[in-house]
Amino acid sequence: MKTIIEPFRIKSVEPIRMSTPAERASLLADAGYNLFKLPSESIVIDLLTDSGTGAMSAQQWAAVMQGDESYAGSPSFRRFEAAVRDIFGFRHVIPTHQGRAAERILAATLLEPGDVVPNNTHFDTTRANIEAVGATALDLPCAESRDLSASHPFKGNIDLEALERLLAAPPGRIPVAFVTITNNGGGGQPVSMANLAAASALCRRHGVPFYIDACRFAENAYFVKAREPGWQNKSLIDIARATFALADGCTMSAKKDGMANIGGFLCTNDDEVAEHEEELLILTEGFPTYGGLAGRDLEAIAVGLYEALDPSYQEYRHASVQYLGEHLTAAGVPILQPPGGHAIYVDAATFLNHLPRELYPGQALAIELYRAAGIRSVEIGSVMFGKRDPTSGRESFAAHELVRLAIPRRVYTQSHIDYVVESLAELAARRREIPGVRIVEQPAALRHFSARFEPVTLAAAPGFSPARR
Ligand SMILES: *Cc1c(COP(=O)(O)O)cnc(C)c1O
Repeated sequence: MKTIIEPFRIKSVEPIRMSTPAERASLLADAGYNLFKLPSESIVIDLLTDSGTGAMSAQQWAAVMQGDESYAGSPSFRRFEAAVRDIFGFRHVIPTHQGRAAERILAATLLEPGDVVPNNTHFDTTRANIEAVGATALDLPCAESRDLSASHPFKGNIDLEALERLLAAPPGRIPVAFVTITNNGGGGQPVSMANLAAASALCRRHGVPFYIDACRFAENAYFVKAREPGWQNKSLIDIARATFALADGCTMSAKKDGMANIGGFLCTNDDEVAEHEEELLILTEGFPTYGGLAGRDLEAIAVGLYEALDPSYQEYRHASVQYLGEHLTAAGVPILQPPGGHAIYVDAATFLNHLPRELYPGQALAIELYRAAGIRSVEIGSVMFGKRDPTSGRESFAAHELVRLAIPRRVYTQSHIDYVVESLAELAARRREIPGVRIVEQPAALRHFSARFEPVTLAAAPGFSPARR
């Protein structure tokens, strides 16, 4: 059959409250045009993130009822640990309340000021935790990742030559090297087994522990099976096991391919490292048999990790992201190619090419998509990664102005996705009328969460003219 269906029936539904453009325009003004400040009941389709926003299965809800909330020695922990060991294969499994807690404990255990940590692309919390201990987070994405519109099967790969040069002549200690699968910061693009194996071998040769940021390990396994010669006949769980056999440890957010609403873990094969990490865990997260989680959360993750590796689930997940990407492309909406595993990234600088980057085309598009259709997305561009120098007032800009449409797991059906396509196609037809924005208030750090904006039409922005782009 050509039609790939949602491989589930719906047993419990969550109503969507329909709102009008006029209602949303007034909510936007109240929120300072910052989509993080909207009440979520006012959103028709929420594509802000795929993190912790998925629907749990009947099996997961049944497991929740088996949760044993004992402080120590809970069988829920043993079931969680058995599932993680079975798939990931590491000796020590340390539960945390989410991925960033695993990163913080790892950084505090391994890193000192002046150290350098390479990665294909650090996720923002990984970077923040490395920088918080005075170390440097270095992104080494492969050359193919630089061209947004070029298709390549493994655009998430780490640049092996750059990694080799770094390891041969390190500017500081390198206590750990990372590869993130899939590469979230780089558009949800996958990493090949060949690239992971080569990165692992380079690290082994230089005595550097090799870690995987495993958040979307099952989506990555699906891409490997679909695209990488030699892996077609392997099951997703075997690909996952082969992936982690290359590594010395991993960090994981169970809010992604753990199919849970909260949770994470940290793994290592090093007994001494694990001992130190468990001491830190007790300080801020909890006893080693629960971390920052309830027994019921551990149960939901233990089931969810296997469900993420179900081939019919992955086939459906990739079909729906691909479907959105293909239909947007056909409607003339420029996107990062090829579609990633968990999201579509609209190239807002190209889409709204009448707006100079000083008028934040990504934020402008995200605002209009919400006002017109009630769809919440997120700007991944100069609002998120740019900075205003507090003394000179000069602005630095991001390399790309993107708007991410992240797809929650098992939540939306094809008609929801069709609605998203139709909404963006409608914006494409009148894109030159979409106004830019200026920032009227911003904090010193992580400004995208709390900045306030104001719409500004091009005519009202002196010094800007469409000819500048
Ligand atoms: C979400 C994410 C994290 C952090 O996990 P949280 O559970 O949000 O703390 C780390 N790395 C990647 C690649 C992620 O997508």
